[in-house]
Amino acid sequence: MTTLIFATANAHKLREAAQVLGGQVRLETPAQHNICGEIPETQTTIEGNALQKARFIYQRTRLHCFADDTGLEADALNGAPGVHSARYAGEHKNMNDNIRKLLCELRGAAVRTARFRTIIALIAEGREYLFEGRVEGIIAQNETGGAGFGYDSIFLPEGSALTFAQMTAEQKNAISHRARALQKMKDFLDKNALPQC
Ligand code: IMP
Repeated sequence: MTTLIFATANAHKLREAAQVLGGQVRLETPAQHNICGEIPETQTTIEGNALQKARFIYQRTRLHCFADDTGLEADALNGAPGVHSARYAGEHKNMNDNIRKLLCELRGAAVRTARFRTIIALIAEGREYLFEGRVEGIIAQNETGGAGFGYDSIFLPEGSALTFAQMTAEQKNAISHRARALQKMKDFLDKNALPQC
């Protein structure tokens, strides 16, 4: 079994990752390594932020670790909010405000297509690996559903009548951006057993 520190304090992300990675990977949190508080994400790309978060943990622990960074890219807004998804409505990172702003920006838009894009940065023995997962869909007119987190309540994956927030964890994980990136990392780990430090 491989032990990996997941550079997140987000319980939803942890749960999704545990479900996809299953018994093959033991997940640890930064807090278990006495790393508390916010992990910086100040880069201008999703890839850059994922790497920044993973490097932050690796530099402090020298242990195998990974981070994910996610953006919601609306085509009518030239890919916004994208890398700014967490702070779309301001530095206070309020999800209600972010969602309200996005729905407002898209009011009357003829095109509501969008995608979630996740980059996972894995650092193992000092080497860095990137894995990408995407899911195409559309931004709903209103919020629907109470499960999930973030923008889940306004994202309808392609071909689905349900938003991510109306799905069970299993349904979201069967198609989500994060699950797809995690699956790629899992395939990599299956082929490349990491020595445990
Ligand atoms: P980050 O990857 O944690 O920086 O996320 C950026 C923004 O996207 C935050 O506002 C998150 O709440 C949101 N987000 C990340 N992953 C998801 C997801 O799976 N569903 C919905 N929103 C998400």
